[in-house]
Amino acid sequence: MGEQEPDRTGRPAGGPASTLHPDRWTEPFWAAARRHVLVVALCVDCGTPRPVPPGPYCWECDAQDVVWSPLPGTGKVFTYTVVRQVERPYAIAVVELDGVTGVRLMSDLVGVDPETVGIGMPVEVWWDDVDATTTIPRFAVPG
Ligand SMILES: [Zn+2]
Repeated sequence: MGEQEPDRTGRPAGGPASTLHPDRWTEPFWAAARRHVLVVALCVDCGTPRPVPPGPYCWECDAQDVVWSPLPGTGKVFTYTVVRQVERPYAIAVVELDGVTGVRLMSDLVGVDPETVGIGMPVEVWWDDVDATTTIPRFAVPG
């Protein structure tokens, strides 16, 4: 099986699992997801959080090494859009994660009536076990 290049748009080519191209920078994130733990990479030198999934360099100090830190798995809707060109409309949200400053994760909102979604709405991670090796964090209303 050849190495697949990530789609430049970041969108899946053939389904959720095809968005995952773990490398040394992102593998710990996906390994933690497999254990249903949401983690963030913090710069070892200055503590600046990396985006999820992280790139190889700190944007503050250019350091490479990170330490992975668990997050509570909750957050708030930072912004969202509703996809209506489907049989069952759904919301896609950018979620500002609790427990770290300025780190956001995009996800569809699972089991949420899109008409009830609003900016600032609390959400929590919902682990989608796609197959035997892949788990993707999505978000739902805290239950
Ligand atoms: Zn740094």
